This record gives sequence, structure tokens and C-alpha cells, in this order.
Amino acid sequence: MSDVLNVEEIFASKVFTLGKMKERLPKNVYKEVKKIMDQGGELSLATADVVAKAMKDWAVENGATHYTHWFQPLTGITAEKHDAFVTHPDAEGKMILEFSGKELIKGEPDASSFPSGGLRATFEARGYTAWDITSPAFLKEDATGVILCIPTAFCSYKGEALDKKTPLLRSMEAISQQALRIVRLFGNTEATKVVASVGPEQEYFLVDREKYLQREDLIFAGRTLFGAPAPKGQELEDHYFGTIRERIGSYMKDLNVELWKLGVTAKTQHNEVAPAQHELAPIYETANIAVDHNQLVMETMKKVAGRHGLTCLLHEKPFAGVNGSGKHDNWSLGTDNGVNLLDPGDTPNENVQFLLVLACIMKAVDTHADLLRQSASDVGNDHRLGANEAPPAIISMFLGEQLEDVVKQLVETGEAAHLIEGGKLATGVSTLPDLDKDATDRNRTSPFAFTGNKFEFRMVGSADSIASPNTTLNAIVAEAFCEAADILEKADNFEIAVHDLIKEYMTKYQRIVFNGNGYSEEWVEEAARRGLPNIKSMVEASATLTTDKAIRLFEKFGIFTKAELESREEILYETYAKTINIEALTMIDMTQKQILPAVIKYTKSLADTVLAVKEAGADASVTAELLNEVSERLTEAKKALTTLEEKVEKAGTIEEPKELAFFFKDEVFTTMNALRAPVDALEMLVDKKAWPIPTYGDLIFEV
Ligand code: ADP
Ligand code: MG
Repeated sequence: MSDVLNVEEIFASKVFTLGKMKERLPKNVYKEVKKIMDQGGELSLATADVVAKAMKDWAVENGATHYTHWFQPLTGITAEKHDAFVTHPDAEGKMILEFSGKELIKGEPDASSFPSGGLRATFEARGYTAWDITSPAFLKEDATGVILCIPTAFCSYKGEALDKKTPLLRSMEAISQQALRIVRLFGNTEATKVVASVGPEQEYFLVDREKYLQREDLIFAGRTLFGAPAPKGQELEDHYFGTIRERIGSYMKDLNVELWKLGVTAKTQHNEVAPAQHELAPIYETANIAVDHNQLVMETMKKVAGRHGLTCLLHEKPFAGVNGSGKHDNWSLGTDNGVNLLDPGDTPNENVQFLLVLACIMKAVDTHADLLRQSASDVGNDHRLGANEAPPAIISMFLGEQLEDVVKQLVETGEAAHLIEGGKLATGVSTLPDLDKDATDRNRTSPFAFTGNKFEFRMVGSADSIASPNTTLNAIVAEAFCEAADILEKADNFEIAVHDLIKEYMTKYQRIVFNGNGYSEEWVEEAARRGLPNIKSMVEASATLTTDKAIRLFEKFGIFTKAELESREEILYETYAKTINIEALTMIDMTQKQILPAVIKYTKSLADTVLAVKEAGADASVTAELLNEVSERLTEAKKALTTLEEKVEKAGTIEEPKELAFFFKDEVFTTMNALRAPVDALEMLVDKKAWPIPTYGDLIFEV
């Protein structure tokens, strides 16, 4: 029975859980730790020493040799520097492994090689990592051995955030404080905090590693920069929820086991729309832990793929012509005494607290649509947003028929007297039960959709950290709650005041609600009429971070200072420019060294054929025609290549980050497309055996 998988046993086996702390720590120490976890505060050094020792003992019992402060710099991925537990051997040469409280709670990595956007002058290269006690330590096990990972925040010498976690934690405190004010107004005196919960659905592609290694574009850019469509795409809709093939199934099984050991509740797995595309969704948890776990999910997906001769592509658009990948960020708010603020109950029209929360979220999303859009931007996501597979780049809210009707009634009459009921769904088969119908259908085209007891933010990119979207969501909703509470706490007659406020907000911000088809051209026009922003690219979105409105918001709740926002904006420009530069250089390299030589060789064989056929006295016109066609495309490709080289060179002369990012978007990126077109056309003309790289057919249908 040894190969029976015991999930209860392996779950969180590599996590220093609360349970393990309770078991291993003296009672008073455990209590202190638990209190700080729940209410905040700082561990005393003496307590930290006790915790560190228990943590180290547990880690060493499980084979750990090193520890690391595991953090999330602005690269969007995680960083780690390993330190062994070894110390000076004693006089007799004996080794005692050690790990102190000081080492647990604080680290001082050199920050100079992480993006800081000018926040950290080189003479202050030191950065600090500080243990985030709310996220449990865990063991990472791979070829490096077993490493104890301590989730940490990462700051500069002056305390400015250099990472994704710090602002997220700040935003969670802000939303908790402001949401508490709201629930207090409705008589909830028991709740001590309100927690933002998040469940991210992670999409990904798997390709064969051997083929991956034959494509420089996949290696350097994580996406294909060339590639003609295969004869078949996703039009038969036969991949979505299709039977999972053995090779993929065995990957998914391993992935689940690894994630379960790390305490990640991997729950749902299925094939996605595009060939070779899949999805994994965990059960939701506290935003902070969900962010950490999503990083682990992405990392583990890549690691496990290697063991199966596969490569996992997390890029938002690895292949043109089929769907790209996103990450639906399910977000909700719950009190610590079990009330989900986004649960409308059976009669949302009578649920005043829910209606106020909804009105505040409408206000938040409408007021800061630009920031929300920005929070879901990354370089790869520019290929998705606004293309007909992902939400448009325009932010709107989907409420569903029932809630939209409630809002309409409230706006028109100030009362929501009736409710559209879901009713029964007759299956028409006597042996099948009739199903209760939800009053809201699903809407797949909305970027921000209400789905029962949570909002689903569908814009987020598959490769991106979910820290920014959740930081922004928490911040904008905290602001709306704060403003509502400011008014309502002072009201003489709460009932009347809350009623008026709901009506006022819903009236004022109803333009953000849209239940129709977000992919349609009519919506783009309608949204423009409503005055909703349509920010088309990451580069254009970046400036929204430093508007007066944004600075006011983030400074008010202590989430970002102006300097931190400015640095983040600058990092975004730099990241964009660097990424497109790598893509352009990769295209140049592939064209120059692989594609042109292969095509030239092919034209020679065609030319030889023409001559030989002619000499033999036969008609060589078909081959000659093909030769002409290939030569024409070859000329086009060479011309585009030269232009691309010139543009990249020109980019090298631009220093100002914003100007450079725009240059890459408007000049370099467009030229890349001009090069891709003739190369893809050539792929269709050239003998498959002569084509130097695996095709789309090879990559996504033969996994
Ligand atoms: P679908 O693909 O149908 O939208 P999935 O089951 O793939 O649904 O994913 C739904 C996600 O939403 C899961 O991660 C789930 O845990 C999460 N979720 C459910 N309730 C909440 C909640 N209250 N807060 C945050 N996330 C939630
Ligand atoms: Mg899903």
C-alpha cells in the first residue's frame, strides 16, 4: 500500500504550521506569537530566539541544511540567498547547527542589484528583510537540498518598500480598519478585523522541453516571436475541459503533491481553451498568503515540468492565434467572526450592509478604474487585454441581472421592493433533479465580475504577481469605506443616512456597471460615451500611479509614499523597455542566424531544381514561381530586419525611462510585427524539413 497517496498526511508536511508551533513552543511563547499574528506587534528578541530554535530543529529533522529570507522584489518573482546553519566548529572540531532569533526576524541582503527605481542610492546599497509572521515558514526541497524559507518583506535603509509584500500588508491593514468601521455601524461589535481573501486561478501552457530548447524565443522571451498558425487551432473547442492526456495527468499529479506538501490547497485542474493550455485553482485564503502561495505555485509548476521533460510557460501570450493565459483574481472581504461582506444573502434588496458595501465598491472601481487597470498590467498582458479572449482594457463591473435590477430600482425610486428570482431549471428528464437556477448568469467578458459572494478580477496576467492587483483593490475600497464611514458615523439618523448614501453612490457611479458583451466594438464606443478610461498599454497605464488622485489615496492609508510610487512608475518603464529590447534582440538573432540562412539554402535548392528541370526540357514554372515568392518574402524580411536593427540602436541613445518605454512600444514593437509577418509567410512556403525551428503544430499539438 506504500504508493497510496495519503493527502491528509502529506498536506503541509513541509510547512512550519501553527499546529507545529503549538507542539514545539513553550505555551507562553506560542501565545505571544499567535497574538502578534492576529493583532500585530513585534516579537521580543528572547522570544524570537526560542521560535528560531524550534523552527531550525524542525527544519533540520526534515533534512534542511540552509535557511533563507524569501522575498518578493519588484522583479515580480521571488528572491532567496541561502545561509547554512553551520557555525564555527568547537575546539574539538564538532559542528553545532545554529539559527538565532535575530537571523529569523531580520536580514540585510545587498539591495543594489534589485530594481529600486532610484529609491536606493548606491551608497545605501543595504536592504533589509523582515519576517512576515503572518505567512508560515516552509521547506523547499530540490536538487539544492532542503532549504528553510522564511517569508519576508524587503525594504530600503530608510524603510521604503522595495518589494510587493510590504505595500500589500499595509493595504490589508487599511482595508481591515475601514471595513471594521462599516460593520460596527451595523452593530457588529465582535469582529476584530476584516480580512481580504483571495483565490487566484492560474493558467499555464506545457510544451515538450526538447522542442522548447530548439526555440530561442521561448528560452529568452518566454513566448514565440515567430510562428505561422497550425492548420488546427482551438476552433473545435475540444481542448477545454477535455480528457487530460497521460503525460499531462502525471505532471498534474506530481504538481498537486508538491503543492499540498507546501500547504497550498491545489483544488481544481482542467484543460483550458487553447491546445496545451491548462489551469490550476487553489482554495482561497488570506490575501497575503494567497500571494505567497501563488508565487510557489508558479515556481513549482516550472520545477515539476522539468522532471517530466516538459517546460511550463507562464507568459500571457506564448502563441499567437490561440488564447493566452490569465489569472482570475477572486477577491472578497470577511470578518474574523465569519461574515462575508460580499455575501448578498437570499434577499440582497433588503441587506442594507451588503448594499452599502456594493455601493462603496462601485464608487471605488469607478473612481480608480485607471489604477485597477494599471495593477493588472505587465508586458505580456498587453497582448491579451483588449484582444477578444480576455477582458477589454476598459474597466467595468458586472453585477448580474438580479443585482443590476436592485441597483436600478434604488437609483430610480430609492427603494428596491422586489427581487428577480432565480427559479428552477427544468432538466426535462424524469430521473434528473431540477436544478436551482442562480439569478445571475456568468459573464465571461467582464473584467470585474460579481460571482455570488466575491468579485472576480479577470484582467490579471498569468505570469504576474497578484500582489499589486490586491494591494490596489484593498486600497481603493478602503478609501470608499472610509469616506462612507466618515459620513455615517456622524449621522443623526443612521437609517435615513445610509439609505441616502447608497442611493447617492449608486446613482453617481452606475456608469461603471456593464452587463453586456465586453468584447464588442459597441462597448468600446459606449464606454467612451460614459467617460470610462480605455488605457491600451502597460506603458500608458504606468503614469496612473503618480496622479494627484493616486498619491492622495495611497499616502492617506500609508500604503505607498509619493517617492515609492514614483520609483515604481520608473521601474515599470525600465521593465517594459528591457523586455521588448530582449525580444527584439532575440528576433534579430533568430532571423540572422537561423531563418535567413535556412531560407537562402532553400532558395538555392529551388534554383538548382529550376535549372535542372529546364535542362531536362521540362516545365519549371511552378518551382520558379515558388522561388519568386520565397525570394520576395526574403527581401521583405531582410528589409524589416535592417529597420529593426536600426530602431534598437536608436533606442540605445534614449536615456529618459518614460521616453524609452514609449519608443519601444511605438517604434520597436511595431517593427517586430513587421518582421514577423514575412517570416511567418516564409514558414508556410518553405519545406518543413528545411525550417530551422519547431512549428506551432509541433509545439502545442505534440506534447
Ligand atoms: P471558476 O473557474 O468557475 O471561476 P474556480 O473554481 O476555478 O471557479 O475558481 C474559483 C476561485 O474563487 C477559487 O480559488 C475559490 O477558492 C475562490 N473563492 C471562492 N470563494 C471566495 C471568497 N469568498 N473569496 C475569495 N476567493 C474565493
Ligand atoms: Mg476556473
